[in-house]
Amino acid sequence: MRAVRVHEYHSDPKIDDIPEPMISGPLDVIVKIGGAGVCRTDLHILEGQWAEAMGPQLPYVIGHENAGWVHEVGAGVTNVAVGDTVILHPQPSCGLCRACRAGKDMQCTNAFFPGLSNDDGGMAEYLRTTARACVKLNPDTNPADVAALADAGITAYHAVRKAVPLLYPGTTAVVQGAGGLGHIGIQCLAALTATKIVVVDKNPDALALAKQIGADETVQVDGNHVAAVKDLTGGEGANVVFDFVAEQGAENDAWAMTGPDGYQFVIGYGGEVRIPTLDFVAGEKNIIGNIVGTYNDLAELMVLAQAGKVTLHTKQYPLESALDALHDLDAGRVRGRAILVP
Ligand SMILES: [Zn+2]
Ligand SMILES: [Zn+2]
Repeated sequence: MRAVRVHEYHSDPKIDDIPEPMISGPLDVIVKIGGAGVCRTDLHILEGQWAEAMGPQLPYVIGHENAGWVHEVGAGVTNVAVGDTVILHPQPSCGLCRACRAGKDMQCTNAFFPGLSNDDGGMAEYLRTTARACVKLNPDTNPADVAALADAGITAYHAVRKAVPLLYPGTTAVVQGAGGLGHIGIQCLAALTATKIVVVDKNPDALALAKQIGADETVQVDGNHVAAVKDLTGGEGANVVFDFVAEQGAENDAWAMTGPDGYQFVIGYGGEVRIPTLDFVAGEKNIIGNIVGTYNDLAELMVLAQAGKVTLHTKQYPLESALDALHDLDAGRVRGRAILVP
């Protein structure tokens, strides 16, 4: 089969002809890929940023945002059958450890992460995953339309879902960054809460899109944006700030926009938060970390997607054009999400 493999860091991957993955355990599932999202994390992998944390042996296949059709199942698989349309949780978990039993798939101590850890990912014709990672979809769902919800979508949904009890009517939520993840977060907030949604971004086009998909107010990043958010919240700041940027100073803006007894949800990464401890005490303010999401998060998000309440803008490329997709993403030429279709 054809597959996009990283051979060395700091250079383009290659499209290789390699053997198809095989069932290796009773709960394994082989999926015929219908769509594989191209993510900024793939660019970071090629830059070698994940080499130390994940230590994959090169060459390996990237691609961690995958959906398709079940092609083959191990002897113990009962939840999906050959031919089913599925989207895949990006990190197959064991189901037996304490974290799994608490529903916290991302904290599983025996998990693997195809396309990121030492396992082949989904920028290929077929992928090996496990029964626990498969979310069954309506048979008429086109995998290429939803694939990116497997990572970008689940991450945005997870943060919003955690914040729902904090966002009762009368509250205000700020979404900082209305790009790939943020534009999904806005739609999730609109679908799950009655909070006032304020979107902060430097790009006027992103703000215009935000208005169409659920933002009540938009604020352009211009140096006065923190004051503008304060004005919209009676001088106090927001109840919850979702920081999808979290670098280049945005992480400190997010804290300044968070009101007393409020919560800063960190979803983007790259920056550094330095805050006087008195700020936590005097304001009783909180910072919450977020990593991808749970199996149930993905299943719930797919209910919203299949009801048309969360939609993803995509640009499709054939698998052979994987390098074009990666280069376009790197150069900022992709509106929405690039998807490879084998
Ligand atoms: Zn991703
Ligand atoms: Zn586990």
